[in-house]
Amino acid sequence: MCSSRRVRPLAVALAVCLPLTLAACGGTDNVASDGAQGDCPSEPVDVVVSVDQWGSIVSQLGGACANVTTVLAGSSVDPHDYEPAPSDAVAFEGAQLVVLNGGHYDEWAAKLAETSAPDAAVINAVELSGHEDHEDHEGHGDADHDHEAANPHVWYNPAAVNGVSDAVTAELSKLSADGAGYFAQRRTDFAASMKPYADTIEAIKNGAAGKTYAASESVFDDMAAALGLANRTPEGYQVAAANESEPSPADLDAFLGLLSDRGADVLIYNTQTEGSVPEQIRSAAEQAGIPVVEVTETLPPEAKTFQDWQVAQLDALAKAFDVTT
Ligand SMILES: [Zn+2]
Repeated sequence: MCSSRRVRPLAVALAVCLPLTLAACGGTDNVASDGAQGDCPSEPVDVVVSVDQWGSIVSQLGGACANVTTVLAGSSVDPHDYEPAPSDAVAFEGAQLVVLNGGHYDEWAAKLAETSAPDAAVINAVELSGHEDHEDHEGHGDADHDHEAANPHVWYNPAAVNGVSDAVTAELSKLSADGAGYFAQRRTDFAASMKPYADTIEAIKNGAAGKTYAASESVFDDMAAALGLANRTPEGYQVAAANESEPSPADLDAFLGLLSDRGADVLIYNTQTEGSVPEQIRSAAEQAGIPVVEVTETLPPEAKTFQDWQVAQLDALAKAFDVTT
């Protein structure tokens, strides 16, 4: 359930590009903010990333040896339904590397890469994660909705995050052989900075074995699976959500009933969606005393990095399960 009709901005001043964020805000950013990464020994590689969930990671891996432009940063729009502006095509021109989420999540960026940067190397996170399947996330309105749409939110899949990071470093090193040593060091540093993320995942996996969750939408499902949690979200609701349609009254009733019966240990709630359905679900959980753990689709403005964002959410989940991290 990621339709733009319900997605709201995370902050008021979204059009403003914050100079402190790691991911560029529709502009070019050398990510010189930490000062510890040293100078680039070669000509920086020009990189375009579609969304900031990946842009934050790519910026860290590229450091001073990459000019990273992230097209959608600041959570002002829903990447699912984004309509690119003419200026976005310009952003892709001359790109040597394009990093996409894929899985029809950011198809606009795949098209712009084809037309405006036909020679660029392309990394597609969904393809890389092996998650791509037969069904279109958007549904495209045809009648063939018998099976569940693929979940495109692969930045919530720890293995995919690792795989994309490796692929980015490999491509950057290919594009700038002189920078290869630098990129290898950045990859090592990034892995070290991801340790709290890996440790928190491990702690929840060990401490919350057998726990269950229900979710207002599928955004967190890959992470929940990696944590070993069982998904109790009623199936009909999940299918409707995956096809970006409203759940039927019966599906919503099933969800509300599950919560009032305390049929899940936590409710995973995407705060970037709004509307009466998620609101009803949230208040049903609160009334039943089920902890509500908030997650977001895209990086919130207060998160400096991908890992800060993810660890804060994982910490909240660990707390809901009484797991010490
Ligand atoms: Zn989504």
